[in-house]
Amino acid sequence: MTVIRNGPKTKKLKVKAVSDLLSIIYGPIPWKPRYNASEELVYTILSQHTSDINSERAFHNLLTVFGDLDHIADASVDDIEVAIRRGGLSKTKAPRIKSILNEIREELGSFDLSFLAEMPLKDAKAWLINLKGVGPKTAAIILCFSFGMPAMPVDTHIYRVSQRLSLVGKKISAEKAHDILESLVEPKEVFQFHMYLIKHGRDTCKAQRPKCHQCSLTELCPSFKRYQ
Ligand code: SF4
Repeated sequence: MTVIRNGPKTKKLKVKAVSDLLSIIYGPIPWKPRYNASEELVYTILSQHTSDINSERAFHNLLTVFGDLDHIADASVDDIEVAIRRGGLSKTKAPRIKSILNEIREELGSFDLSFLAEMPLKDAKAWLINLKGVGPKTAAIILCFSFGMPAMPVDTHIYRVSQRLSLVGKKISAEKAHDILESLVEPKEVFQFHMYLIKHGRDTCKAQRPKCHQCSLTELCPSFKRYQ
């Protein structure tokens, strides 16, 4: 573990120290692929503004109803909307799913995005962000979760915890935080660090009333005193 004396000298060392301390609590979290990349894209759309449980239910129901991505792309927006209703915001998500699947199929003739894993990270991100409705967070989720590439998705928990730890500045947007955090974490550690900060944000460094008295990062956290 990194030894902290008068605090880490650089943000990279601080990230390493945070990661080491959180690894004691959460243990190793090895990467393993979740869905294929196009499915991950659909899942990510379904996960917006809803719980993991609801988005997983909606995703599995969608695949159960239509069988595969081709049939989802061919389905009417109304039918997709019914299939994903339990996930919430179905009227917004259904046309988005249909549109993006058709955009990929027209571009590639399939839903196979495995070529992205062979590209430099910057180019793979740019290809995905070129799709309508895909931003840095969605692109990073696909590259990180489907291919294990060192892209750092920054969700609301990671953004909040990183700001409280002063890993990213208060005036930095969530979009810009992706590149900043990515540059601070060792590429092989990106997935694990992403998972650690989400867990820590959910369990301890909550949006309202963070549990600083239970937190193992107090010595590294300039926000500690504010919440006492
Ligand atoms: S000390 Fe408090 S504000 Fe800082 S990371 Fe821990 S829970 Fe969050």
